[in-house]
Amino acid sequence: MTLPRAVSVAVLGSTGSIGVNTLSVIAQHPQRFEVFALAANSDVETMFAQCEAFRPRYAVLANESAAARLAARVGDAGLDCEVMGGAAALLDVATRPEVDAVMAAIVGAAGLASTLGAAKAGKKIMLANKESMVMAGPLLIDTARASGSALLPIDSEHNAIFQALPANFARDMDAAGIRRLILTASGGPFLHASAEVLAGATPDQACAHPKWSMGRKISVDSATLMNKGLEVIEAHYLFGAKPEQIDVVIHPQSIVHSMVEYVDGSVIAQMGNPDMRTPIAHALAYPQRVEAGVKRLDLAGAGRLDFTTPDCERFPCLRLAYQALRAGGSAPVYLNAANEVAVDRFLNHEIAFNAIAEIVEKVMDDLPSQRVESIEQILAADGSARAAAAKLASRGSGLAERRAAGGLGH
Ligand code: NDP
Ligand code: MG
Repeated sequence: MTLPRAVSVAVLGSTGSIGVNTLSVIAQHPQRFEVFALAANSDVETMFAQCEAFRPRYAVLANESAAARLAARVGDAGLDCEVMGGAAALLDVATRPEVDAVMAAIVGAAGLASTLGAAKAGKKIMLANKESMVMAGPLLIDTARASGSALLPIDSEHNAIFQALPANFARDMDAAGIRRLILTASGGPFLHASAEVLAGATPDQACAHPKWSMGRKISVDSATLMNKGLEVIEAHYLFGAKPEQIDVVIHPQSIVHSMVEYVDGSVIAQMGNPDMRTPIAHALAYPQRVEAGVKRLDLAGAGRLDFTTPDCERFPCLRLAYQALRAGGSAPVYLNAANEVAVDRFLNHEIAFNAIAEIVEKVMDDLPSQRVESIEQILAADGSARAAAAKLASRGSGLAERRAAGGLGH
């Protein structure tokens, strides 16, 4: 009997938190999955180690000089791997005919072109890069539908909802008898922080997530609750839920990953220890199930599960995301772009934690609504929001409060 051919996977963002977890699941099933391509930005050391361990056909670094350094290392080691540099190479490896499945785990808008390309090429897409869904939801969904590309959510909340939905769900909540989707949020590191603590919060404090170990951008998003806001928008596009059909509940233990409430009163939850290898393994093997290496859930050991309502006063980013979703059009693109710029500036110690929400709100207020149906229109809206956010950040929005709170260390 011949074994079925292994699923050929391109892991985009392989050197990041999701990428490393993806490779950890793949390594547990060498007969089942093979790494065709790895891609990242500039982390030569991690990429070289991954090339040695997984022997991909292609390795891409978007940063050209880093790619040149990687090529030298790969050549010296005698690995049979072609190294490519530049952003266009990301799209190239995501769309090669040999690729069956693409892990879209580049952080931020930098992941949009390759995710969209994989959708056009009819690949199975494992979508971690939520920013591409927030920027281009309708385009991405339509493109995937037209090519027959399966879009499987990696975000733990959306993966949980996907698992709790009826089979053959067709993005029609009413037809499926669904009343609402309930996204859980850990609340992040500042769940109980005072206004003073928030005003002086440092990047390291913001990145010290109590339950999940993640990249720095999404860690800051979790601390502001913008991550949950982006997820509300992601859920709207992925599942066809109206804004009023998506609720958020704070659940500090991060054991219930999200829920679907049906009209008959049933609420179906997906649970497990907080470990991204669960949704990754689910998507990789779908519709089958494989071992993920995740610690089994001990409910008695967990003891209790708490649920509370989020505080949109202290965490305005969640309110802004609902506002962007209701406004539609270019508003989610503005929200995402302004947030990316502001988070980057915060991580570089240039603006205060609270300035992130201030900048996002001001950009959304100031910019006129634009049409965002084509990729060109999306990128134009993204560009104008980035420019506006950068200007505000340079003007020092929020810096005063932070100085007053003594938090401006750099
Ligand atoms: P990390 O910061 O850990 O990793 C980001 C990855 O993207 C790295 O491989 C990085 O490469 C690569 N990258 C960054 N910029 C570029 C670029 N311009 N071109 C090509 N590659 C680039 O992030 P995470 O893994 O935490 O998150 C990845 C995505 O998954 C995000 O969209 C996040 O929201 C989403 N996600 C993450 C979760 C998590 O638990 N971590 C949970 C749910 C969603 P390099 O290392 O070379 O810089
Ligand atoms: Mg999530």
